[in-house]
Amino acid sequence: MGTAPPKLAGTNSSAARYVESIDPSTGDAIGRFEATDPAALPAILDRSRAAQSAWAPQSIRERIAALRRLRDAIFDARDEIAATISRETGKPRVEAVFAEIILALDTADFIALHAPKWLRPERVPHHNIAVKAKSGWLEYEPLGVVAIISPWNYPFAIPIAQIIPALAAGNAVVLKPSELTPATGALIGEIAARAKLPENLVQIVQGAAEVGSALIDASPDKVFFTGSVETGRKIAEACAQKLIPSVLELGGKDPMIVLADADLGIASSAAVWGSFMNCGQACLSVERVYVEQSVAAKFMGLCVLKTKKLRLGPPSDPDAEIGPMIRARQLERVERQLQDAVARGATILTGGERRPELGANFFEPAVITGVDHSMDLMREETFGPVLAIRPVASPAEAVAIANDSPFSLSASIWTRDIDAARRIASQLRAGSVMINDVASYYGISEAPHGGRGASGWGRAHSRFGFLEMVHVKYVDIDRLPRVAKSWWYGYSAELTAAADRFVEALFASRWTRRMASLRRSGALVFRRDKI
Ligand code: NAD
Repeated sequence: MGTAPPKLAGTNSSAARYVESIDPSTGDAIGRFEATDPAALPAILDRSRAAQSAWAPQSIRERIAALRRLRDAIFDARDEIAATISRETGKPRVEAVFAEIILALDTADFIALHAPKWLRPERVPHHNIAVKAKSGWLEYEPLGVVAIISPWNYPFAIPIAQIIPALAAGNAVVLKPSELTPATGALIGEIAARAKLPENLVQIVQGAAEVGSALIDASPDKVFFTGSVETGRKIAEACAQKLIPSVLELGGKDPMIVLADADLGIASSAAVWGSFMNCGQACLSVERVYVEQSVAAKFMGLCVLKTKKLRLGPPSDPDAEIGPMIRARQLERVERQLQDAVARGATILTGGERRPELGANFFEPAVITGVDHSMDLMREETFGPVLAIRPVASPAEAVAIANDSPFSLSASIWTRDIDAARRIASQLRAGSVMINDVASYYGISEAPHGGRGASGWGRAHSRFGFLEMVHVKYVDIDRLPRVAKSWWYGYSAELTAAADRFVEALFASRWTRRMASLRRSGALVFRRDKI
């Protein structure tokens, strides 16, 4: 068991290369971490493989006991974790607690509860009488070493919600946190050590694209990537070259559909929170609102009113609701989209200005209308505090334009008519749909998360996310081991005729025909000419 303080895997001592942790509200460096030498990745993977080969044979009960220690270590360190996340991402501390700490702890409980039964070998009954003499089993094996490449926006919850199921399934993990959140990444390694997880079972490698790419080159057994579409494409290509399977959790452009009968007070609060939480830097942000024309003016008025009340400030201010954006380049991207939309006829109803007097990267949350799908603002991920509202003539129009997007992560519908909402939900191209709430399904461990198209492939969370961590093996037991099989060699005209009758016996539409053919296909089973 590794009791030593966490080490960075393969630190780069030759070149002076570091990853800096920067406070986005001031721009000041607050920590420095040695970057992993990309050339060290093969040796790091070897250490993971050695750790995994000792970990996988442990019983699920033993593995879950170790994961309970990890859970307890997270619980004990919750203040430290929340403070580290807030300092490094600029998000209000309450958001770090709600969206990261709770999710991490709940994942640990959820996996401890379910993994033992999900990993249990499972009998597979056969429906076909031709194979009734066999019994089948599914076995769930670990994959080996899984690589987790994470983004900065939820730097704790995202990797932890993959590490826990990966370990429960018997894998080892190499995590590459975002280069923008190295302190949170290092803390994950430290907490794994505090929990006395076996040495090298969870290794942290620090650095940017070149380290991520070297990690894939080192041939892990699966890559779990969460990040942008642009990087996701590169990851998919790199994995394809080596035939490494992947899960890609990419961007979103989530629509919110507000029907005329919705509770506008609640829906407007949800729109404002859903667009601006984490300063709009969430894959599940509400990025497009389609509201029925008859209530659009009232809804927009409420959104503007509520947006104007939001308090901007660094996470050190406990009353601050909107922190800084992560970096200037992210802020510039949001500004570019807003300027382009305004140049094409959109109107900013409030916000959309920089607030340099508050510190680096502060930007007023913006409510904008007069938007259409010719604008980048409505087609590309914004990933910033922008609430774009477009009135629509009908629910059908809302569905049509909600689906007019390369993304398909999540969506929400607001109405008192639950039947109507369910009908709309089934028409939406989305990995998940919330009725009368936004984004919170992400905190429900049972709920699968993931999209398709530009939002990626594969699933996180839930049983489906767990099954991404295993290799499903089918084991078949023949119950007539002394009988040679009818379909083996010794082919003849008689066998061909018997085979034809056997097809009739199995699949003819009339039962009488089936029964007659069954009697006449006896030669298939009782062949004397097998070799
Ligand atoms: P990013 O794509 O810039 O970086 C993500 C990770 O990939 C980082 O660790 C980065 O160092 C690494 N990376 C970059 N280039 C690489 C390469 N060539 N090979 C290997 N690794 C490489 O994304 P980001 O800015 O950190 O995160 C924001 C994006 O993540 C947004 O698009 C957001 O929607 C998405 N996201 C998606 C989900 C989801 O669950 N679908 C959740 C959170 C964030």
